Parts: sequence; C-alpha cells; structure tokens
Amino acid sequence: MSSSAEVFDTIVRGVPLREPSIKFGTACVIGGSVAGLLAARVLSDHARRVVIVERDDLGPGRDSGPGAPHRNQAHGLLRGGQVQIESLLPGFTDEARRRGAVWAEVHQQRVVLGDHRQRDEGREPVLSATRPFLEELIRERVLRLPGVTVIRGVVSGLEYHDDAVAGVRYRADGTESRLDSEFTVDASGRSGKLAEWLEAGGYHRPHLERVDLPVTYATALFRRDRPADGSSMLVGVKQLKPGDPRADGVSGALVQAVEDDRWLVVAMSYGESRPARSLEAFRAALGGLHDPFPEALDSPVAQEIQTYRLAGNRRRDFAGTRLPARLAAVGDAVASFNPIYGQGMTSAALHAACLRLFLGGESDLSRPAADFFAMEEVVVDAAWLMSAGNDEALRDAAAGRPVPADVQAQREAMALIRRATLVDPVVSATFQKVRYLLAHPAALSDPALLERAGAPLRSS
Ligand SMILES: Cc1cc2nc3c(=O)[nH]c(=O)nc-3n(C[C@H](O)[C@H](O)[C@H](O)COP(=O)(O)OP(=O)(O)OC[C@H]3O[C@@H](n4cnc5c(N)ncnc54)[C@H](O)[C@@H]3O)c2cc1C
Repeated sequence: MSSSAEVFDTIVRGVPLREPSIKFGTACVIGGSVAGLLAARVLSDHARRVVIVERDDLGPGRDSGPGAPHRNQAHGLLRGGQVQIESLLPGFTDEARRRGAVWAEVHQQRVVLGDHRQRDEGREPVLSATRPFLEELIRERVLRLPGVTVIRGVVSGLEYHDDAVAGVRYRADGTESRLDSEFTVDASGRSGKLAEWLEAGGYHRPHLERVDLPVTYATALFRRDRPADGSSMLVGVKQLKPGDPRADGVSGALVQAVEDDRWLVVAMSYGESRPARSLEAFRAALGGLHDPFPEALDSPVAQEIQTYRLAGNRRRDFAGTRLPARLAAVGDAVASFNPIYGQGMTSAALHAACLRLFLGGESDLSRPAADFFAMEEVVVDAAWLMSAGNDEALRDAAAGRPVPADVQAQREAMALIRRATLVDPVVSATFQKVRYLLAHPAALSDPALLERAGAPLRSS
C-alpha cells in the first residue's frame, strides 16, 4: 500500500495528457467557478458533453454574484496550483502574462513575518493577478473545449438510479428541469447543498469538521503608474504581531502588482477586530509599512475597499461516507480553509488532478468513486494540516487550552520549523514546498530537518 506522501507525489506529478478516452455521454458539473471549471476540463477528456450548471451570470465584466461574493477579495495563486492549472490548460501561464498578469520572481517578493524578512530559499515565482482575471481566463479556455457548455441555473437536487447519481434537477427562468448525467461533480463551494441532497436520496451526510477562527478581509485596488519590472518589489506580505501599534487590528497585509496596471492591497484581521473600512483608516493602518505599501496607497483608487468575513476552516468527510456511484465533489464543497494560507484554488486544482488520475484509470464506474475520494483526502489532509492545524494551535494557545502530549509535541515541532524558516535555508526550502502544496507535509517530519530547525534556538 502506498503512503500518503507517495500518493500526494503521484497526484502532484500528474499524468501526461493522453488522447481522450470517452466513458460518458453527458457529465454534469454543479458550479462553474475555479473548482468546477477545472473539473469540467478533466471531464471533457471522458465525456462527449460536459454541462456546467452555474447560478451566477459570469463572464467578462460580470465577475461577482451571490454564488461567490468573495470573488473580489485578494486571491494569491500558490505555485502548486499554477503548475496544476498549467498542466490542465497548457499555455495558461503565458497567456495570463500576455494579458497583463504579473510574474513576480523570487527576488521581487518580500515576505516579512513579524519584524523578520523571510528567506528566499524555496520560495517560488508568483503569477500575480486578481481572482476574476484568473477565473475568466480559465473559463474562456474551458468553454472553448469541444462539448463543454454552461447552463445558467440553480441546482436543487440529485436524481438517483440503481445506487448511482443519474442526473441533477435545476431551476432556470422559473422552470424546474432535469439533466441526465452519467457522472456528476459537485463544485458548488463552501455553502453547497450536497450533504442535504445525499440525505434526501437516503444516504448519510458526510461528517462536517470545523476549526473556527474568524478572519475578515478588506481588499482595495489602486492605479499603478509604473511597469511591474524587476526594479521594484512586487509582492509583499506583512504579518503584524497582535498589539503592534501600526496594526490597528490588522494581523496581516499584502500588496501585489496585478493586471491592468493596478496594485491590489489587502488587510486581514483575526477574531473580532476588523480591518479599516474607510480609505483614510486603511491608509493609516498600512501606509507606514515597507514599500510598496505607501506607494500603492498614495495612488488613485481603482476599486473601493470591499470586506468579507469568514468563520474558519471546514471539511467534509466524503472518503469515510457511503456514497452513490457516479458522483465526485471538488473544491470548497469538500474543504475550505482560512484564506490567509492561500490554498483554495490550489486545492481545487489538485482535486481536479485526482479526478484526472481516477477517470484515466481502470476504476469500475458503476461503484462509488472511493478511489477518487481517498486520493482527494490525501490532498485535503495536507492542506488542512498547514492551515486548520495552525489555526487550531493558535486558538488553543490563545485560550490556554490543554492538548494531548503528542499533539503538543507536533505543534511545538511545527512552531520550531516556522521560526527556523527565517534563518535556515534548508528548513525554509522544505517548508515552502509544503506550503505551496508541491510536497507532502511528511517532509517536515524528517528528523534531520527537525534537528536543523532546533539549531538556531540552541545557538541563541
Ligand atoms: C476572502 C477569501 C480570500 C481567499 N483567498 C484565496 C487565496 O488567496 N488563494 C486561494 O487559492 N484561494 C483563496 N480563497 C479560496 C477560493 O476562493 C476558493 O477556494 C476557490 O476559488 C475554489 O472555490 P470553488 O470553485 O470550490 O467554490 P466557489 O468559488 O465558492 O464557487 C462555487 C460556485 O458554485 C456556484 N453554485 C453554488 N451553488 C450552486 C447551485 N446550487 N447551483 C448552481 N451553481 C451553484 C456558485 O455560484 C459559485 O460560482 C479565498 C476565499 C475567500 C473567502
């Protein structure tokens, strides 16, 4: 049996694009955002027709809607996700750059944690753009694939036949319709209703696990009057310590050069504190930070501050639930993380990679997609450890809550590693690979690495 780390490596490495092998007449995807579009890309190799049912009216210039109101918040694409999207949609990165997305090399980034600049080792270039831009580019490419179409409608339930999903019911223009589907993928996001639809079909709801740590985002765009070239820092992250007089309730901030000659600036706050909502307060809280925060904040506003609050991390245990056949779920519908860790789009891309391995293999599709969900669980576990695991540790430490000795030991090791990323190149390189979802967190349990991580502490 393969270890989780081996499974993760197989998913990350992926399979080379092969000739499509058609297994279905019609496949359906519920939700046409990042996760749904990438799933549709995979399905297009195996279905004559792929129908995406999406409730929002999406497309150029129509980049928001009630289905995903967080679209206009800052969205960083981790290297692990960019690599996966490139593999699914070859040429994606070049096209994004041609259309104005900024490619920030490692030396153009500055990551500051507390008062320390993080080391460059292990950091990767960033494809820097807004989420509507990235999503629109993915949508355009996926909708150009033969057989892929979108219906604007709201899915209200699943149809079952012979212990398998046989289609979806949806409402469009006030009419309820049914779409027959031989394979259905739920990509309806964090507040999707799949658990209820399963229950209505006589199945159990997948167990929901939560790690609550509320976070509020405030994102604004400013005009950028100079090109994003190597002469300046393009991406900067500042994580302020709670209580820092410059923070004004802000626990983290990011400025990045994005498409259309704009700066995107975001302030993030934990718990009950809220980032500034007026431009004056926003500028007062962040203007004293390192360049290019002041430059960006002094520039004309291109998009007023928009705020969004999220309660914390959520995951649903599909791998441990008896499910009907011909059903998969991807993206936030499966696991949604504290956005500060920037894992959502990358996780969605890795879920699509799992679907590609599953559908490209020999699995018996008349049975539940257990192999798919087992692979996906490995991806969810890896991302969860880095985000929800850290949030849980922060939350317990703040509340002075006692935890079992083995959990405490793991948390202390992780805290040691995080601190050592500021001083040790090898620890930094390994940690970044895991953080970017390019490597499995098992890499962080290597005794030699832990030894190195402890060294700076011993010598100080
Ligand atoms: C404030 C914030 C900041 C974030 N920052 C980052 C970041 O920096 N980096 C990153 O990678 N990720 C980030 N994320 C996470 C990221 O948004 C998602 O993880 C990622 O886009 C995948 O989402 P999704 O496609 O699964 O779901 P969503 O983006 O939520 O899309 C679900 C889609 O399904 C549609 N839908 C829902 N129900 C139905 C229905 N019944 N019928 C038809 N359609 C339906 C919705 O309209 C929507 O379009 C952030 C999230 C938030 C909230």
